[in-house]
Amino acid sequence: MRHDWTREEIMEIYNTPLMELLYRAATVHREHHDPNTVQVSTLLSIKTGGCPEDCGYCPQAARYHTDIEGNDLMTVQHVKAQALRAKASGSSRVCMGAAWRNVKDGPEFDQVLEMVRTINKLDMEVCCTLGMVTENQAKRLAEAGLYAYNHNLDTSEDYYKDVISTRAYQDRLDTISNVRKTNVTVCSGGIIGMGENLDDRAGMLVALATLDPQPESVPINALVAVEGTPMEDIEPISIWEMIRMVATTRIVMPKTQVRLSAGRTEMSREGQAMCFFAGANSIFAGDKLLTTPNPDVNEDMEMFKLLGLTPQKAFVKKAQPETVEAEDSAYQDMGEKPKWTRPGHTIERNQLAKMKSKE
Ligand code: SF4
Repeated sequence: MRHDWTREEIMEIYNTPLMELLYRAATVHREHHDPNTVQVSTLLSIKTGGCPEDCGYCPQAARYHTDIEGNDLMTVQHVKAQALRAKASGSSRVCMGAAWRNVKDGPEFDQVLEMVRTINKLDMEVCCTLGMVTENQAKRLAEAGLYAYNHNLDTSEDYYKDVISTRAYQDRLDTISNVRKTNVTVCSGGIIGMGENLDDRAGMLVALATLDPQPESVPINALVAVEGTPMEDIEPISIWEMIRMVATTRIVMPKTQVRLSAGRTEMSREGQAMCFFAGANSIFAGDKLLTTPNPDVNEDMEMFKLLGLTPQKAFVKKAQPETVEAEDSAYQDMGEKPKWTRPGHTIERNQLAKMKSKE
């Protein structure tokens, strides 16, 4: 397993003639994964909207004017019901997303820990994406039985400054490093089609592929431009860019679960089939991906049938973690708050969207 990939090498792979690239990626894929199995995951927005951050692509940022209806934190019972429904329709993994800048110790985090325990007892892989976490919070999530923590790098460090002003790239890396101190697996990927160039895409893959160990899971999203966000006018990327990105990710991170994530409603079945051939081995099911549209689960099951794909079972890649009940916990609420590391930085495009929303 290589951890010394350079931008130049990655760009060279990305630009390989397509047939050669697909052959190489498919070969690597077959060495490490069953090519006829694709994991179906369900992404659940457990707390929607009202986020204080300014991620330029995100309709959940409070400062932009979008049609998103905000919701308070879901109840544990509601989450359990949704997880059972997801399991019945073929999902082996549930990812719970909360529109928070960072986790704050207190009753809401305790409620999330209870959700983690509940889903883990359903024999499903449970993942959370809750913003920045401290080491102690990561340990508490691990004790609850969390399987994976998602924290996307989004893009390269250079382009990150043009997308988000309310935190820095290093904040992301710090959270990933806190998660790595536990037995929770790391899920981290990004979004293409935000106006970045190939150098930035390669930069993001360098940042991920040079982590040791590499993330167990890497979602590759295509920007879904939402009205009211600073990126509302960006044209969708072509499927060929997605295929190349997936294939390159597969080659530089051979063992990773590569997730074909947002943007699938714009992709044909043929396009998605090429992504699976190029090494994607997970999709998100359900008609919504947090807040953006996603194909209906029945359509996905039809596509699986057509392509002869089988949904992957839970815990194929790693054993199920043990759930430790709250009363037996070794880690207590410490009231920690991660620091804001980029005071004073602004992004004109994000400021304009904020002003527009006030008009
Ligand atoms: S991507 Fe996450 S952190 Fe950024 S604005 Fe949206 S919910 Fe907040």
